[in-house]
Amino acid sequence: MKLTKRVSLIKPSPTLALEAKAKAMKKEGIDVISFSAGEPDFDTPDGIKNAAISAINDGFTKYTASSGIIELRIAVAQKLAKLHGLSYKPEDILISCGAKHSLYNLSMALFEEEDEVIIPSPYWVTYPEQILLCGAKPVIAGTSEEDGFLLKPEILESLITDKTRGLILNSPSNPVGSAYDRQHLEKIAEIAVRHKIYVISDDIYEGIVYDGFKQTSIASLNSDIFKLTIVINGVSKSYAMTGWRIGYAAGPHDIIEAMGNIQSQSTSNPTSIAQKAALEALSGNYENFISMMVERFDKRRHYIVNRLRGIPGVSCFLPVGSFYVFPNISGILGRKFNNTVLDSSVKLAEYFLNEAKVAAVPGDAFGAPGFMRLSYATSMDNIEKGLDRLESAIKQLV
Ligand code: PMP
Repeated sequence: MKLTKRVSLIKPSPTLALEAKAKAMKKEGIDVISFSAGEPDFDTPDGIKNAAISAINDGFTKYTASSGIIELRIAVAQKLAKLHGLSYKPEDILISCGAKHSLYNLSMALFEEEDEVIIPSPYWVTYPEQILLCGAKPVIAGTSEEDGFLLKPEILESLITDKTRGLILNSPSNPVGSAYDRQHLEKIAEIAVRHKIYVISDDIYEGIVYDGFKQTSIASLNSDIFKLTIVINGVSKSYAMTGWRIGYAAGPHDIIEAMGNIQSQSTSNPTSIAQKAALEALSGNYENFISMMVERFDKRRHYIVNRLRGIPGVSCFLPVGSFYVFPNISGILGRKFNNTVLDSSVKLAEYFLNEAKVAAVPGDAFGAPGFMRLSYATSMDNIEKGLDRLESAIKQLV
């Protein structure tokens, strides 16, 4: 069958594929422990659910404004003003079907053939694929464990060409949990402004930070970088609402309007009911829920990092935010199981799934071979059991 060239450029999401395989094994009755989830293991708070139930009962079940209901756009603007001192009008905000959709609309509005977009690695799997989908070129900027997996300003500067149109920053990040402080962002902003590069600031994990880390929005640093930044966020992670599919973008009016036009000719409005739920999440009082979730994640974070660091051949960065750890497993690559050499993180992940019944995502998917991503958005019991299994599976290798 003849499909478009565009389709041949992209791969299906490997994280979703692995999660699907682990779920299928569980369905067959196999006791799999999954560290592959990209979503909080907490239920959406009742107040938010009730707002959706009321929306249904009140008949709020029809098309809404394609760019999202005005109340929700106002609530997003108020949140950005309160948290970061950012000043957006509701018409500078677009509500979409998840932050992934916001990012897609943005790529479609901003990037095309010949354009280059810089993406620090390890990166969230979707970034390069979306850039490829719109015909542009992802330019991967390496970071290192020693530098806290943060993009060094001099690396950024060295990758900029006359074709560079954008930079994607994700802080706190998936898959590493690294996060940029204000000083670091100032250096990046200075470069972006000097070269007139758009900064896409994916802040989806901003509510999930540890040890009092102060999250700064790059858009808030000065008026020049404000004009070049598009803030992407959503309710999926902070409010345990991944299935509701509400994300948003805030940025320069022309860009948001173009994204809104794309959305109006593709998906139209995000679900009316989910918008009411998101409105309740953003305008209601859910700080305690978020604190409870972060406290639980924090305990698991310390436990999982300590256990991983205790395995000979493994090192592990202590995440600053999000709910992933990204251990460096290169020290155990090349060992054998039944005469098969496990010389890549993909092979090691397959071994873990088949022999130890533990699902973890190989770092290759995030542009970082030699690493593995484990999500600790799962119960402490699962984490303990899963780490026991991983440890003994690694001991069996020769
Ligand atoms: N950005 C990052 C870095 C993510 O990890 C995710 C979810 N895995 C998203 C965006 C998309 O979130 P959603 O579409 O659920 O809002």
